[in-house]
Amino acid sequence: MTECFEEAACKNKESCSSTTACEKTRTVEEVEQKVYEVETADSTVLDYTAPYPTDPALFAARPTDSMLVRIIVLHDVCQPGLNDNFSTFLEDKDKRRFSPNWCHRTLPNGAKAKRSWLIYSPEKNKMFCHHCWLFGDRTSSSYSPNWTEVDIGVDNF
Ligand SMILES: [Zn+2]
Repeated sequence: MTECFEEAACKNKESCSSTTACEKTRTVEEVEQKVYEVETADSTVLDYTAPYPTDPALFAARPTDSMLVRIIVLHDVCQPGLNDNFSTFLEDKDKRRFSPNWCHRTLPNGAKAKRSWLIYSPEKNKMFCHHCWLFGDRTSSSYSPNWTEVDIGVDNF
């Protein structure tokens, strides 16, 4: 049996009759298993004493352990600011700083879409690409370390 877990947030409630075609539909068991995996694994792998547990600055090297990568992905990209006083984030030489507004873009229909690739590391005061940091092919000829390597990063806000 399937049950839509996005029902409360569903913007298509009136006309949505399908529970199998919706990609957000999961079985109760799948959701419970996912929650269990995050709760049990997070407490031993991610540093929850840190304000932003998936900040790339907290990892000595690019995470390659498949379980760690999975946990980081499940925990979500490091995008502080929306619940923070982001005026405390450091300014660059031109007195510009990271804006949490960059974590979303407005679509032509007015809806907001999350930029799920964008990382902001308060520790480094730099931006990175979540996908390239975790999965980028460092051997590719088109590989650029700017958005990927924690010791480099992008800071021209
Ligand atoms: Zn990327």
